[in-house]
Amino acid sequence: MKKVIYIEDNAANQRLVTQVFKRLPEIELLNADEPVSGLELVALHNPDLILLDINLPGMDGFEVFKRLKADEKTSNTPVIAISANAMQEDIDKALAMGFEDYIVKPINISALLQVLENML
Ligand SMILES: [Mg+2]
Repeated sequence: MKKVIYIEDNAANQRLVTQVFKRLPEIELLNADEPVSGLELVALHNPDLILLDINLPGMDGFEVFKRLKADEKTSNTPVIAISANAMQEDIDKALAMGFEDYIVKPINISALLQVLENML
């Protein structure tokens, strides 16, 4: 069974993505609502894919991303940004850093499903 971890502090987005994953019974989704518990969850479960909000409390998604890339256990794990920052500059910055893909909020469900299909 594939595992995906979603680090997101917004409950509505977490619920939406959880609903989407109910259509994908072959993938287990684990949610974290802040960066520290998210990184712990990643260390514990070694997921196949990480969905990462950028605007998070305490540590932003870019910092979380840097920590994931600095750890040899997670340096190759694909990370997809999910962010309300929709400016091309933000998207280009994330892709240049090495994010696998960038999903803009409000989350388009078919776009998310397409990305998951490509990745998993
Ligand atoms: Mg957020």
